[in-house]
Amino acid sequence: MSIADNLLKYKTELDESGVKLIAVSKYHQASAIQEAYDAGQRVFGENIVQEMVEKESLLPKDIDWHLIGHLQTNKIKYIAPFVRLIESVDSLKLLIEINKQATKNKRIIDCLLQIYVADEDTKFGLEYDEAIELLRSQEYSEMQNIRIVGLMGIASNNALEKQTLDEFMELKVLFDGIKVSFFRKEESFKEISMGMSGDYKLAVGAGSTMVRIGSNIFGKRIIKHYKAE
Ligand SMILES: *Cc1c(COP(=O)(O)O)cnc(C)c1O
Repeated sequence: MSIADNLLKYKTELDESGVKLIAVSKYHQASAIQEAYDAGQRVFGENIVQEMVEKESLLPKDIDWHLIGHLQTNKIKYIAPFVRLIESVDSLKLLIEINKQATKNKRIIDCLLQIYVADEDTKFGLEYDEAIELLRSQEYSEMQNIRIVGLMGIASNNALEKQTLDEFMELKVLFDGIKVSFFRKEESFKEISMGMSGDYKLAVGAGSTMVRIGSNIFGKRIIKHYKAE
């Protein structure tokens, strides 16, 4: 199956449920992204800043780039001019810096709060209490150049189906609670980014609005470290 075939399969399946497809192109060459672009895909997810910046410089300008990996505050400046959505906001400190860089670039940058739902201690994310604390903070209330449009979560690796589903359902419940408490009037707060190649069906069943699919589109990630072509 080609990249175009894989995309078509997802498009047909996801369009029915109104779920957006984020094609996760990390570690893959710009030529693979171009192939997906030529097949009509416009939204791509990358988890390393340097890789995203290099690829952005090589590829068409109407691509929506989503950052989906852990972000260090000193790297924000490199993506602030163009990034479409930062899905991995996991601290107030980071959000403060994103706001600062967005201001410098005269932009409003959309963000998701990454919520920790997995039963592992290796993954990044905010605990629910921390997310609430962030949303109640004075600093957040004063930010003019970021917009929080939803939540993101990653389920536990290699878990049983029931546990994965529980984790996705937990994220959906948290989303509903935060929506009512903090964003009742903001129509833009509507995204729940959950689901990857192995578990997207469960995620869609639990209310996902965007799935992040990598290997099922681009194949296995053989190259561990991306090098510019
Ligand atoms: C790599 C990655 C994905 C895609 O994973 P696949 O299993 O290849 O679909 C999705 N989300 C995040 C945060 C990732 O780092």
